[in-house]
Amino acid sequence: MSALPSHARVVIIGGGAVGASALYHLAKAGWTDCVLLEKNELTAGSTWHAAGNVPTFSSSWSIMNMQRYSASLYRELGALVDYPMNYHVTGSIRLGHSKERLQEFKRVVGMGRYQGMDLDILSPDEMRGKYPFLETHDLTGALYDPYDGDIDPAQLTQALAKGARDMGAKIFRFCPATGARREGDEWVISTPQGEIRCEKVVNAAGYYAREVGKWFGRDVPMMVMSHQYMLFEEIPELAAWSREAGHKLPLLRDVDSSYYLRQEKTGMNLGPYERNCKAHWVTPDDPMPDDFSFQLFPDDLDRLEWYLNDAVERVPILGTAGLSRMINGPIPYAPDGNPLLGPMPGVPNAFEACVFTFGICQAGGAGKVLAEWVTEGETEWDMWSCDPRRYTSFAADKDYCVAKGMEIYGHEYAMHFPKHAWPAGRDRKLSPIHDRIKALGAQFKPYNGWERANWYAQPGDDLSEESTQTWNREGPWRARIEAECRAVTEAAGILDLPGFSRFRVKGEGATAWLSTLTTGKLPKPGRIGLAYFSDDKGRIVTEMSVMMLDEDFFFLITAATAQWHDFEWLQKHLPKDAAFTIDDVTESFSCQILSGPKSRAILADVTDADLQKGWLTHQSCQIAGRWCQLVRVSFAGELGWEIHTKVEDTATIFDAVWEAGQKHGLRPFGMEALDSLRIEKSYRSWKGDLSTDYTILQGGLDRFVDWTKPDFKGKAALEREKQQGVTKRFVTLTVEAGECDAPYMSTLWHDGKVVGETTSGNWGYRTGKSIALGMLRADLTVPGTEIEVEIYGDRFKAVVQPDGPLFDPNNERLRA
Ligand SMILES: Cc1cc2nc3c(=O)[nH]c(=O)nc-3n(C[C@H](O)[C@H](O)[C@H](O)COP(=O)(O)OP(=O)(O)OC[C@H]3O[C@@H](n4cnc5c(N)ncnc54)[C@H](O)[C@@H]3O)c2cc1C
Repeated sequence: MSALPSHARVVIIGGGAVGASALYHLAKAGWTDCVLLEKNELTAGSTWHAAGNVPTFSSSWSIMNMQRYSASLYRELGALVDYPMNYHVTGSIRLGHSKERLQEFKRVVGMGRYQGMDLDILSPDEMRGKYPFLETHDLTGALYDPYDGDIDPAQLTQALAKGARDMGAKIFRFCPATGARREGDEWVISTPQGEIRCEKVVNAAGYYAREVGKWFGRDVPMMVMSHQYMLFEEIPELAAWSREAGHKLPLLRDVDSSYYLRQEKTGMNLGPYERNCKAHWVTPDDPMPDDFSFQLFPDDLDRLEWYLNDAVERVPILGTAGLSRMINGPIPYAPDGNPLLGPMPGVPNAFEACVFTFGICQAGGAGKVLAEWVTEGETEWDMWSCDPRRYTSFAADKDYCVAKGMEIYGHEYAMHFPKHAWPAGRDRKLSPIHDRIKALGAQFKPYNGWERANWYAQPGDDLSEESTQTWNREGPWRARIEAECRAVTEAAGILDLPGFSRFRVKGEGATAWLSTLTTGKLPKPGRIGLAYFSDDKGRIVTEMSVMMLDEDFFFLITAATAQWHDFEWLQKHLPKDAAFTIDDVTESFSCQILSGPKSRAILADVTDADLQKGWLTHQSCQIAGRWCQLVRVSFAGELGWEIHTKVEDTATIFDAVWEAGQKHGLRPFGMEALDSLRIEKSYRSWKGDLSTDYTILQGGLDRFVDWTKPDFKGKAALEREKQQGVTKRFVTLTVEAGECDAPYMSTLWHDGKVVGETTSGNWGYRTGKSIALGMLRADLTVPGTEIEVEIYGDRFKAVVQPDGPLFDPNNERLRA
């Protein structure tokens, strides 16, 4: 083997399927001066023992993108790199036991077709046609994925490695990384074979990612589960059928029972995600070994018994087979089950491509995404679902990771209903008035760990988990949300909003610098405005509220989940010689939203602030003898103020406002009501309506662009797009929906063709309409145009609305 070079452009730590794919894609992008370090043989981590299933199914648009890309890459990879491998595209049948499951399938079929995949729904007869050994009496239908299949994970990794090597990239096996340090603008990675310096480094260490992360001062939010599958001996009936048919059975997933069953040669492979699951390496009596290469955990058949019995009832020929072997291996989990793929939070020129739970079917797409992050600093598809910065420091807590990992694993195939809040790992970050709003009936959901009220229940309401197992608008919450919206519209509502991310930008040059990053005009002192941040392609990076306190002194306010993402965007663009500073002061403040026509009268009782100051102003004042910042804005679209308080004063101020509000009909309202109110104003929400999948102009944000500014990030691209005209554009739609409002990425139809997609949908209680925001082919955005929205498989008529808010289009209520 050649000697370890002293320098490489990129060093990847870890040679599983994901690390190898990252190397392959970097080399493909022309970055051939890259080195992969593997402490053992390639595939020694989770990859060697993986079952190798390659589904394209996902209810997440971005993850489906990754998996679709993988499946299509794997079909041609053997020929591309001259490394033939076992990849069987058998198709798969995903069984549905309920109406809700079938709705989920239909939604995924819609998304899949939009991505160019011919997914389909099967009736029980059609299932039996493809899978004659199947019991179907209790099934409502199935999803058929013709692209699903299985690949040999070791061969896949070797093929990617060969492809990378052939292009000039280097792989060093039995060469563990043992540490990392920063020297100047370089990373120095130490190994027993010497040190290697690099510009950029990637943590692709699989279930060892937390250990590797420590060298970078990064606490990786993850844990490790034990995951098993059972291999069965030959089943003569299956062998005969397969011989005759000339192919294998489609892979079967009984998602409601929580297992997959796959034909393996002439036998079968059964892999459950069991509820009674087991985490590993989390207690002192089960420490993580320094090296677990090519090792397995002891078999644990007891945990699988229920699933085996269930599978035998579903496919009775399985009952005739003898068990030949079990595999029980480590599989890493992040708290939401998605991988960590993107910039390493807070660490320059370092990236993560680790903690993959489905790393075989995602490796191809993950390699593409990682290579884009490294070589271009941005990705083709918006990949927020996998971005490591979606978590903040609270998520690295081990108990939290274990609780969430076990919950996700035990519900790996669960449906994620919009009104359901998963119970594990809760109460991580509480508002200063948590107990007060809980006493008022708050039904909480976490937002970046912060517990916020989603809606307020009344005594006697059905608060069971079962009641949330629906895609429907209707439920115990419906009347409550409606009443909350009515209070905000007719009197006033107060919403506790802890965790609003907040950055202080202060010092000489701050204004000029901020102006180069934002597309529009900055507000004057005493005023607040929305600012949009574009990348060089003109795509929407983020939206922040910019409060100018004084010349060169700003507070920037952004979503709770955007805290690390947005802070890094600002820091990344900070000039080296900046005379101003940026501080994250999120933890020092809290916020209440007071909205509704009576909010002025309520505040008049508790403050001497100037309440006649107009919309988009702010002022410092006192409530109950405590400082607060009153900001005249309302995401609900009514007269209102945000009351920003110091954390320690929040309870006092809330109490004063709450008491003063009682005679005016003040009620608490939650995030559900806020979402309904904002959609009636066509206000966009981040990472739904606003994402890097769209440009500022496609997003209909032209009025937030100041073309007269000498320059700002993204200006050149936006000018080009303005000249050429956008191909698709943001619209507000009213939908003659049925029982469900349009979820994210529902397809829009016109003349039998897909012409766009929704980016969010909800019921508007003030307008009495189902509303969707979305992106539509530009020629169809004329107000009044009739199109259709596909919602869980059914199409509903929708009408394009005039550009602007649907409710109170002239903002008279806001300006009142
Ligand atoms: C039983 C089982 C079945 C599975 N079935 C499937 C399936 O059907 N489909 C699917 O998509 N996924 C499946 N998975 C999950 C899949 O195995 C993983 O998601 C995937 O292998 C992760 O690949 P990776 O490259 O991220 O990590 P790994 O394969 O774990 O690779 C990480 C590598 O980093 C190396 N490393 C660690 N520390 C260092 C260091 N300091 N220096 C150098 N090298 C280091 C390790 O030796 C290892 O080779 C299964 C998992 C299990 C346990």
